[in-house]
Amino acid sequence: PKEGSVVIIGSGLIGRSWAMVFTSGGFKVRLYDIVKEQVTAALEDIRKQMEELRKSGMLRGSLNPEEQISLISGFSDLKSALEGAIFIQECVPENLELKLKIFSDIDRFVNDSAIISSSTSCLSPTKMFNGLRHVKNCIVAHPVNPPYYVPLVELVPHPQTEPVTVERTYALMKKIGQSPVKLMKETDGFVLNRLQYAVISEAWRLVQDGVISPRDVDIVMSEGLGMRYAFLGPLETAHLNAEGFESYCERYGEGIKRVLETFGPVPTLSGEVAKKIDQALWEDQTDKPDQLKARREWRDACLSHLAKLKKEM
Ligand code: NAD
Repeated sequence: PKEGSVVIIGSGLIGRSWAMVFTSGGFKVRLYDIVKEQVTAALEDIRKQMEELRKSGMLRGSLNPEEQISLISGFSDLKSALEGAIFIQECVPENLELKLKIFSDIDRFVNDSAIISSSTSCLSPTKMFNGLRHVKNCIVAHPVNPPYYVPLVELVPHPQTEPVTVERTYALMKKIGQSPVKLMKETDGFVLNRLQYAVISEAWRLVQDGVISPRDVDIVMSEGLGMRYAFLGPLETAHLNAEGFESYCERYGEGIKRVLETFGPVPTLSGEVAKKIDQALWEDQTDKPDQLKARREWRDACLSHLAKLKKEM
């Protein structure tokens, strides 16, 4: 194992995934949670998940499940968890008050060289890290669920984050097999969610305007755009659809702008349209108890196969 420990704060869904990703990279992991039983449950769950991943040939890293599990230890005392920490990944619920409290506690106990990183999906680094003694070591590393199969991590600095903190976090994410991107500055929603919300809002308007059904709009993504987007971004897609990006803009720019002018206002995200989409997305038997669970398991299986395919390409 590597020197020093990675400390995971909060052993819920995302904390468990981070723990598995870091141990797959050979790092010692300390898993801390305010609820003692959560840590025990998390360790048990991780053991089960790793065993299943081994069976399906999807376990990451070169160590076997026993070796990976032996790298993880549970903690219910924050101060001792932080001893010898090189990197801290916070994964407590998405609540600013709670994050402020945990960061001020970490700030008191942590050494001066450890990186303090948050998994937040949408809280700003400014709000979370302002005034901390170790603010230059603080950063957001926003994962995508499930991080074990979806490697993107958005790195978002606080205005006072030192460049070396960004570089060290970037290198660490690469080392454990994730795909980091650097935001040069914070912006509400970071980048993944801004792009996602653009797509959701146009999908909403198309359904609202009676152009297409909710099920069919999803097929446009999964059987159309999404096929490319698993490998290429929208910019390179355009680049390849002409003789380079500038050529694409020359050829299609006027048409794109004409269509964009017809985009409507921000959707209400409530009322009749929300109900219509919701109803369409449940299977015929709305009372089938485990349909979301089954569908999520199917999604994760698809993602794991896609991750494997992408590695082979
Ligand atoms: P979760 O509710 O599954 O887990 C949160 C864990 O934090 C629980 O185990 C809880 O006991 C623990 N906790 C609560 N207060 C604590 C404290 N003071 N100290 C230590 N532990 C504490 O939540 P989650 O889905 O894992 O989300 C965690 C973070 O990750 C959030 O900021 C969320 O926005 C972000 N995130 C979530 C997803 C997702 O899809 N779930 C994706 C990306 C980022």
